[in-house]
Amino acid sequence: MDKYWNPVLETLPREQLQQLQLIKFQKILKWSYENSPFYRSLYKDAGLEPGDIKTLDDIRRVPKTEKSMLREAQGKEPFPYGSILSVPIEQVTEYRQTSGTTGQPVYHPETWQDWEWSAESWAYALYAHGYRDYDRVFMPFGYSINIAFWAAHYAAEKIGCEVVPGGVLDTAARILKMKELKATALMATPTYILGMADVAKKKLGLDPARDLNIKKITCAGEPGANIPATKKRMEEMWGAKVYDEVGATEIGHWGYECQSQAGLHVLEAFHLVEIEDIETGASITEPGKRGSMVITTFDRFAHPCVRFDSKDIIEWSPIERCECGRTFRLLKGGVVGRADDITKVKGVLLAPTAIEEVVRNIPELGDEYEVVVTKKGDIDDITLKVEISPAFKHDASTVEEKLVQQLRLKTGLRYSLEFHDYGTLPRYDVKAKRFRDLRAKE
Ligand SMILES: [Zn+2]
Repeated sequence: MDKYWNPVLETLPREQLQQLQLIKFQKILKWSYENSPFYRSLYKDAGLEPGDIKTLDDIRRVPKTEKSMLREAQGKEPFPYGSILSVPIEQVTEYRQTSGTTGQPVYHPETWQDWEWSAESWAYALYAHGYRDYDRVFMPFGYSINIAFWAAHYAAEKIGCEVVPGGVLDTAARILKMKELKATALMATPTYILGMADVAKKKLGLDPARDLNIKKITCAGEPGANIPATKKRMEEMWGAKVYDEVGATEIGHWGYECQSQAGLHVLEAFHLVEIEDIETGASITEPGKRGSMVITTFDRFAHPCVRFDSKDIIEWSPIERCECGRTFRLLKGGVVGRADDITKVKGVLLAPTAIEEVVRNIPELGDEYEVVVTKKGDIDDITLKVEISPAFKHDASTVEEKLVQQLRLKTGLRYSLEFHDYGTLPRYDVKAKRFRDLRAKE
């Protein structure tokens, strides 16, 4: 079974883990209060002093933060990070920014100490995915202004892997390099993992499962590795194990799957994760109920993240003790959606990931799909565009029947279906935009 990157922390009894979390929370709260003008005024306005937090329950008294507040604080001094910055700017060694998928990017500074923290936190994930010093890891990643896989690169080195930076190569050249070097591991978004397999087959006549030597794939950046049907597709295409990892620029890397693939372990020695009911804000501590994540990052000091409402929809797993032996709590199915993405269509709450699960579970359909929600008169209409594999084109009506039935079962909704030729829907390089809501906002 699994080995641990940190045998002490990863198997700490819950009670001790919670004590550790309380101490670390108190420390980052005090740090933020004393060093960040943003946090100091937030807490002063709420009548809160860091010393008021004496138990884990008290933490709910600490005001939450969210992305719009980070953006606003960023407009203040010192340029360009604004009033959250909690170290003298001379200490900043890394600039990155959020991808800006939900608006103006947030600029993210790290000190060298924070950066080492980032690599360390990623090392937990990679070690749990089975990365060892004998691995040759290929990074098909653009080393851009976004944080993406930067810290993962350093983490793989930290574990002792040999890391190949496949930066400016195009997709075909990356595949050929992986083949030549017999690379054993790979990290990318699920969209790119599927796209690469497509290029390998179509352009190079290669079957990744047969002709390449990849044994494990770490997926991050968007849902996919946590959606069973998508994970299965990727694992079959590559003949490799696929593992999920989650993080965000403002938060850092905070969750990872282990080789048991039983859910997502929260990196609890580095973060405190709370789940809140989306409508009432009540705390959810038991399994079986989805809510929005509120997260605090410990020990990262330049740009603290304290009780940040990330809008990720998550749910505690009923599994109390993972087979791997880690005591870090599990989330069921990883991040199942984002509060921003979950929309009411025809009065029903719809998560785009549910549609993906259906489409990718039907082998006769291609990997790509597109969902467009519009309003026709007073009625919502959802158009689902899918691609049908050439071999099944003659039998489209059977495929359609299967699709209609599965969609009704999994999402409770009816769709206008459009069948497209294989390879004609838009392809994405990194993160996909497959869900569009064109209804006028009220
Ligand atoms: Zn586990």
